[in-house]
Amino acid sequence: MRHFFKHLTFLTVLTLLVTSCSESQSKKVTGNKEQQHITLYTHRHYEADKVIFEKFENETGIKVNVVKANADELIQKLQSEGKQSPADLLLTVDAGRLVRAKNKGLLQKINSEILDSIVPKHLRDNENQWFGLTKRARIIAYDKTKVNPEELSSYEDLTNPKWKGKILIRASGNIYNQSLLASIIANKGEKEAKTWATGIVKNLARKPKGNDRDQVKAILAGEGNLAIINTYYLGKLLNSKDQLEVNAGKAVSLFFPNQNDRGTHVNISGIGVTKHAPNKDNAIKFIEYLLNKESIIYYPTEAHLLKKNSQIT
Ligand code: FE
Repeated sequence: MRHFFKHLTFLTVLTLLVTSCSESQSKKVTGNKEQQHITLYTHRHYEADKVIFEKFENETGIKVNVVKANADELIQKLQSEGKQSPADLLLTVDAGRLVRAKNKGLLQKINSEILDSIVPKHLRDNENQWFGLTKRARIIAYDKTKVNPEELSSYEDLTNPKWKGKILIRASGNIYNQSLLASIIANKGEKEAKTWATGIVKNLARKPKGNDRDQVKAILAGEGNLAIINTYYLGKLLNSKDQLEVNAGKAVSLFFPNQNDRGTHVNISGIGVTKHAPNKDNAIKFIEYLLNKESIIYYPTEAHLLKKNSQIT
């Protein structure tokens, strides 16, 4: 009997121990819940993002740790960090870098009915390793006072000698230009794309410098007549606090080339969950949040993907 009590006492102590352990465990879990976070590696550099991330934090209690750098640096960082990476998400300003990240095995497949229903198949990875968030057309901004839009037609026409000394574009190392060239390679082949690039260089108004906005400012300054830019930069110029930028925006109109054949080149800004994401579920929640109806207003100058699919949610 004494033996029995001895056992009983031992069992009680053991039970108490297990109970208190699981209690402290659950407290720990509760504690973690209060400090939930995700880490976002992003190449985007727009003010609107900050606002929407704060809104997500306020509504979900999930803190967004933002690490900003260009996409190539972030991809390299992900590679060198491997399984130890704190990153949950990679957000880029073009599809090319997302494809690169996927091919290096840095992303993972996401199962989300919400994302499947919002993002059309042609604007996401075929294995759902990344999803487009916004579309951005690379178009021609032209000097309203010097160019008749009827003179414009296609990207190919920009190599016409009539535009000699008139074209403004940022440097070829920029991903927006590389993606545009890639679209010409895909549609016309490498040889024609090379001829096209050479033709553009011959027609340049000046040695490429600055960003897309600077090309439009150069039009205002009378340095050239046509600038190749992403559409939303016109919105940014017109809404700028800098009067010079507003004037530059007012000096141009936009032309969407190639309407009679393959259409204007459209890139995407997109996002994927990293291979070793420590907070995968919250990372998916974050992507779904960026694509919900309320988030559209935070991308005022970009074409949010949901606009065409707003009946879905
Ligand atoms: Fe941009």
